[in-house]
Amino acid sequence: MNDIQRAEVARLNRTVDKFAELMKRRLMEKLLKGYSGWDGEHPAGDLCQQIGQDALRIACTGLTDQEISLRSIDIANRAMFLLYRAEVRQEEQFKTGFARIQKVRDAIVQKTKGERGITGDMDCPACGTGRLRYSVARCNGHVHARCSTENCVSFME
Ligand SMILES: [Zn+2]
Repeated sequence: MNDIQRAEVARLNRTVDKFAELMKRRLMEKLLKGYSGWDGEHPAGDLCQQIGQDALRIACTGLTDQEISLRSIDIANRAMFLLYRAEVRQEEQFKTGFARIQKVRDAIVQKTKGERGITGDMDCPACGTGRLRYSVARCNGHVHARCSTENCVSFME
């Protein structure tokens, strides 16, 4: 990277940081006004429509700079909602799902103390409300487990 590119990257980073600050401020304003549901359904036609309407307003009418800024921030925030719904939420769910399985597996290993060829049940350490049924295979020690709570853990190794 040359000096001109480095300066441009620094300028872009400063601008994105400033933009992110404005996005956060606007989100807080909306939250305090009672808006919610940003992490809602996916795909979300209404979000795309609102982004389109804001973009059209910027393109077609004689808005003031302040109004253009506001519309731009709203577009960015809605785009962030779309990103969250399409990607980030899945990553979060994957991580928490994986963490749940590990917690359950550890509890089963601790309870069975390495014994194989057994089945049993216990209070689910993941959700705290369900009953967890498990088995440890005699041949290879693989753990199978299923919680009675819907959408809690269910796995076999
Ligand atoms: Zn559970």
